[in-house]
Amino acid sequence: MANKEYEISPWKQDFPILDATIINKNPLVYLDTAASAQKPKYVLEACLKNYESEYANVHRGIHYLSEEETANFEAARIKIQKFINAKSPNEIIFTRGATEALNLIAYSFGKKYLKEGDEIIISLMEHHANIVPWQILKEEKNISIKVIPVYDDGSLNYDAFLNLLSPKTKLVSITHMSNVLGTINPVKKITTEAHNAGAKVIIDGSQAITHFPIDVSDIDCDFFAFSGHKLYAPTGIGVLYGRENILHELPPWQGGGDMIKSVTMEKSIWADPPAKFEAGTPPIVQAIGLGAAIDYLNTIGMQNLHAFEQTIFNNMYYELKNIKGLKILGNAPEKGGLVSWVMEKIHPQDISMILNQMGIAVRVGHHCAQPITERMGVSASCRASIGIYNGLNDVKKLISGIYKVKDLIK
Ligand code: PMP
Repeated sequence: MANKEYEISPWKQDFPILDATIINKNPLVYLDTAASAQKPKYVLEACLKNYESEYANVHRGIHYLSEEETANFEAARIKIQKFINAKSPNEIIFTRGATEALNLIAYSFGKKYLKEGDEIIISLMEHHANIVPWQILKEEKNISIKVIPVYDDGSLNYDAFLNLLSPKTKLVSITHMSNVLGTINPVKKITTEAHNAGAKVIIDGSQAITHFPIDVSDIDCDFFAFSGHKLYAPTGIGVLYGRENILHELPPWQGGGDMIKSVTMEKSIWADPPAKFEAGTPPIVQAIGLGAAIDYLNTIGMQNLHAFEQTIFNNMYYELKNIKGLKILGNAPEKGGLVSWVMEKIHPQDISMILNQMGIAVRVGHHCAQPITERMGVSASCRASIGIYNGLNDVKKLISGIYKVKDLIK
């Protein structure tokens, strides 16, 4: 497997921060992309150029800069539409991130369509962002939340999902890829079954979007949420894809400028989607930065990115599995992008602190997914997650770092 082109990622050079030497003069080994991806120079320069010479508010003025910036902002929307194969740019709503996208849909869909006795289905492997908004709704609407269990190997109990579906199911909201287990769920099959039962489907694509091509038309989901910052774009920008006819039916979730056709002191008339869901000044440069990240990724090709990353992932997974006394959380057949683990007699916090001393950045904790962490029998784990800039050299450093941890804490 140790092919030269995989040793150091050919794309590493595009990421200025990865030249850094950090703690103890160690070169940075960044293995925390699942929390947030680093930014390529191309994106940084696009944002800087925008602030330096193109910046103005959008959808407001008819002065030159405002019109140009509106065109830049809307062009980013079209890039995202094409990137995920949505049918229209009107189906792309800009949000602050995946969390806001999921809250938006919980609020708006919940307000319009959910009533006492209705059921929604989520899975045990959800991030808190796809659990808590539904719990808030449950309090308000007296609905029930059904939870798809997870097998010991970290795969979804699909049969249990089928059994949970009923005429009472109004929504299925599920992660495409778990941020703790790396499990990739069969979202297309899930969507078909949910639709057959008359339910709508939301996919939390926060992790999946970074690692493989996404085609919302092929999945046929009703909503798809993700954050820009995990896709090599700035923070403060996310996307909610929604099927256009449904978006027309849903009420807005915030009121303010830009989301109305007209306002009198008695009544307002909402704008059409996506504007209906984008009250106030949007994160303009962040959206343009997301468009730039997509341009950058398109030059690589998501299929190529996926093939490259799978090689790195398989190597990391294999090497970690071979370490005695190390237990991996989740060994589902469909898995990618990240590995979480615990070690006999060594606290995850200590592992991560010692790795940090070697310049190796991994995440530690419950990864904002406490239920699945506990289901795996632990309260915290370490997580190494890869991006397009990681090569086999990073995996080697991680593995030798873990052996050093073992030596130090015997
Ligand atoms: N869902 C999943 C699966 C995630 O991994 C994350 C981020 N860790 C989120 C939702 C929330 O994303 P954000 O914090 O960017 O809103």
